[in-house]
Amino acid sequence: MHEQHREVRPWRMIERRESRRIHVGTVPVGGGAPITVQSMTNTPTPDVRATIDQIRALEDAGADVVRVSCPDEDSTKAFKAIARAAQVPLVADIHFHYKRAIEAAEAGAACLRINPGNIGSMARVREVVQAAKDHGCSMRIGVNAGSLEKHLLEKYGEPCPEAMVESALEHARILEDLDFREYKISVKASDVFLTVAAYQALAEATDAPLHLGVTEAGGKRTGSVKSAIGMGNLLWAGIGDTIRVSLSADPVEEIKVGYDILKSLGLRTRGVNIIACPSCARQGFNVIETVQTLEERLAHISEPISLSIIGCVVNGPGEAMFTDLGFTGGGKGSGKMYVSGKPDHNVTNEEMIDHIVDMVEARAASLRAASEAAE
Ligand code: SF4
Repeated sequence: MHEQHREVRPWRMIERRESRRIHVGTVPVGGGAPITVQSMTNTPTPDVRATIDQIRALEDAGADVVRVSCPDEDSTKAFKAIARAAQVPLVADIHFHYKRAIEAAEAGAACLRINPGNIGSMARVREVVQAAKDHGCSMRIGVNAGSLEKHLLEKYGEPCPEAMVESALEHARILEDLDFREYKISVKASDVFLTVAAYQALAEATDAPLHLGVTEAGGKRTGSVKSAIGMGNLLWAGIGDTIRVSLSADPVEEIKVGYDILKSLGLRTRGVNIIACPSCARQGFNVIETVQTLEERLAHISEPISLSIIGCVVNGPGEAMFTDLGFTGGGKGSGKMYVSGKPDHNVTNEEMIDHIVDMVEARAASLRAASEAAE
């Protein structure tokens, strides 16, 4: 979709919540920075090769930040080599062991995912905060409905938005008391209603940037739908500075779905955004197979390009008006290419896929050249 179309249409505008800005390594989070997409490795962290390979795959898919679990000392030892190889900043996922947090900070973590209220004495918290300050790490407070503190469960009876927000603010207060403000917060639940209500309340209660997620959302399809409903609702309301889609699937899928959610809301524009019709008896070519092939062949493109692939003239010209490139079926064994919204030339159905790939690649190359020239 052309930028100007979004700007002149007020019903497409999302007014983002004002949050303060922190940094995860070089990546800004909050304070109007682009919403970042993150995922987490699921390889054993001590397996340095496998973990780096997975981080590489996530980077290729467009991950802005990657989280790596550090459950033991072998993991924090491996973290150093992993952090050195990674091009994106890494978040070290720590649960209760404060020593792992210090080791991870020393090993190059850009952010520590840790709840200060869970690591024991204030002396330990102080040590972790000092390590974070010394090594330029930010932190994420990650509240999860499934692991709320006992006193909050007793007070509220069950996980509820109030309990989750109270938990988050208790952890935040500990950091604030130590003059540490480089933190973001998440309040995740596997239930979309609880997730959304908790984030809405948290957004009112703090100016910390928020990391969104519907936790343990499920497999690729159901988890993507749940995440799109939960996070989509929040992002549409302007809430959220970084997102992670949790799927029981290849982490690369999490990045792809994360971008799809942001692209649907016009919040990020990475890669080719294909607009396609569901097809019907009117189609002039096989829309479903074509879209599937194009998605695969254009997966390497990171420049924002919109492409409409429409079966016939019922909706083809109209959709093409709002896309950078478009193809509409309907002639005898051929269809029409649209460029920047206007009919441009005819292509046969046989040549169409290669031709579209060539055109998208050429457009990506010129966008890349323009942005390099601007830099
Ligand atoms: S655009 Fe044409 S081919 Fe596609 S679903 Fe609509 S009528 Fe059918």
